[in-house]
Amino acid sequence: MADDCIFCQIVDGEIPARVVYEDADVLAFLDANPLAPGHTLVIPKAHHETLGDLPPESGEMTFAALHYLTPIVEDVVDADASTVAFNNGEAAGQEVPHVHGHIIPRFEGDGGTPIHAVAGGRPDLADDELDDLADDIADAAGET
Ligand code: 5GP
Ligand code: ZN
Repeated sequence: MADDCIFCQIVDGEIPARVVYEDADVLAFLDANPLAPGHTLVIPKAHHETLGDLPPESGEMTFAALHYLTPIVEDVVDADASTVAFNNGEAAGQEVPHVHGHIIPRFEGDGGTPIHAVAGGRPDLADDELDDLADDIADAAGET
């Protein structure tokens, strides 16, 4: 628990939230400033800032909860689809420094954008640069 973290305070019950799901490792609650009806945040209970900081087991449990809850949230608000995403780090727009996945229900004609719109302009990468990047990431990942 990080004393100054809003989401840790929600986990501890010090700040109220509209909790929709809880298990030993994960908590899910409605976003206080929703982008759509049903906008839900899914967090590991343990305080970690980014996905890279998260221990594997905690990441697995967080993804399992996202996987479980996404179709449920869609059904409850009768959504046509959903955007499921993490703002992973401050430069990506993360405002609360405690890992959280967003489930944002989407509706035909809702005026929103696809996730392709989040990163500014597309870089102009040549084929050999793409090949090198793929090799570098595959080497770093260790298994292909
Ligand atoms: P981020 O930009 O960090 O990915 O998103 C943080 C999200 O947390 C925002 O969508 C914001 O509305 C939500 N949020 C911030 N403070 C609170 C809070 O105290 N309670 C709840 N339920 N949501 C919050
Ligand atoms: Zn926290």
